[in-house]
Amino acid sequence: MIKKFIRKVLGLKAAGPKRVPRAKHDIERNRISPAALKVCSVLHEAGFSAYVVGGAVRDLLLGATPKDYDVATNARPEEVKPLFRRAIIIGRRFRIVHVILNQETVEVSTFRAAADTSDTHKDEHGRVLRDNVFGTQEEDALRRDFSVNALYYDPATEEVIDFHDGLADLKKRTMRIIGDPVTRYREDPVRMLRAVRLAAKLGLSIETGSRAPIKKLAPLIGNVPPPRLFDEMLKLLMSGHASACVRRLRDEGLSEGLLPLLDVILDQPLGERFVTLALAQTDERVKTDRPVSPAFLFAALLWHEVLAASKAREKKGERPALALEAAMDEVLETQCDKLALTRKLTATMREVWTMQPRFEQRSGQRPYRLLESPRFRMAYDFLALRAASGEVAEELEIWWRSFQSANDETRRAMLQPESGPKPRRRRRRKKPGETSASGADATPEPAS
Ligand code: ATP
Ligand code: MG
Repeated sequence: MIKKFIRKVLGLKAAGPKRVPRAKHDIERNRISPAALKVCSVLHEAGFSAYVVGGAVRDLLLGATPKDYDVATNARPEEVKPLFRRAIIIGRRFRIVHVILNQETVEVSTFRAAADTSDTHKDEHGRVLRDNVFGTQEEDALRRDFSVNALYYDPATEEVIDFHDGLADLKKRTMRIIGDPVTRYREDPVRMLRAVRLAAKLGLSIETGSRAPIKKLAPLIGNVPPPRLFDEMLKLLMSGHASACVRRLRDEGLSEGLLPLLDVILDQPLGERFVTLALAQTDERVKTDRPVSPAFLFAALLWHEVLAASKAREKKGERPALALEAAMDEVLETQCDKLALTRKLTATMREVWTMQPRFEQRSGQRPYRLLESPRFRMAYDFLALRAASGEVAEELEIWWRSFQSANDETRRAMLQPESGPKPRRRRRRKKPGETSASGADATPEPAS
């Protein structure tokens, strides 16, 4: 106690981490994934230290079920791999080992040192470009983002090892960044998004000092490589808490950097309703373990931008189909700049968007052709969302819902009469010597 006081007065660092015994924390060993326990015990038997670390420990302490398990060890990747039958070393810059046990993948990483403090490996905004040095457990804890993410659980002793008062912060239900907030966000601006995502997902607050600089530093998101931003955005949208996350992103001033015009869309009453519904539906699907398509989600998030761009072009006299095509190009180009949406993803988004005007055509063969499209189901779900948000008449969605399940006869009866000029019949070239049956119908031979 006195030692601690003297250290505090002298501004010295505490002596080592807190080691919290089983009696003083709530992690029950039998709630931990057997694969993660096995990985730790194999590493222990081989003479290494090994801990469950990061999000899994945090979630277990909060009584939530971890999504995946990370193990941190002092063994090097090439020492880890031979200990397991199915293990692969991945990552070029910083190599980690994926150990696969009974369908489960456990990510095993060697303790890493904190980011290089010199300026040589940072960009002009302070973003760390290289941090690929192995280190001690203490260094490993220091380079983690939030105190609640820097807790280590040792399955052998059932102790929680706490270097940065993560347990106290969890009790206060708050996320506190380790070290100086401005420096840490500059090193990696994605940490700002992680703060928002994890806080929304776990119902935690962001500690005042960790929250304060976010608004000002938000533009740094623009320097993050697009593939990384895409990954983080996907995690955020698929978290089962997308609505809460997007709301919080807006509150923290982070939304604009992510989906450049999200704020504009959210300011339009129909756009806001549409996006809100899409996110709520996604959260519901994630929570009930139903599949969610990222393409559908991104198509929904950007739909009102596409619509606005397309309408603007139509106003200038462009034909609707061409206007839509050009609007899609325009919007996707801006987004891909920031987010690195994959080609496969944008191809599906385009299909879903292009099919929307085709739902208006309910005569002749067109509805049958639309129904046969491989993307029909997704495009129809999209239409349903448009109807629910008030963008198109509910009657249109109901018509399509019935048409899908109706039998042939009902379908024929449902078709609407052809409107406008009838499509021209193809002329048949007359065979030489053939005469027309009726003079009035006669078509002159094309001059050749
Ligand atoms: P979840 O898996 O629930 O999304 P998580 O915190 O486990 O949350 P991961 O991406 O799995 O997130 O990362 C595992 C751990 O790695 C984190 O808990 C944290 O300790 C560390 N970490 C992840 N990203 C960063 C980062 N950008 N900066 C510093 N440490 C990080
Ligand atoms: Mg994790």
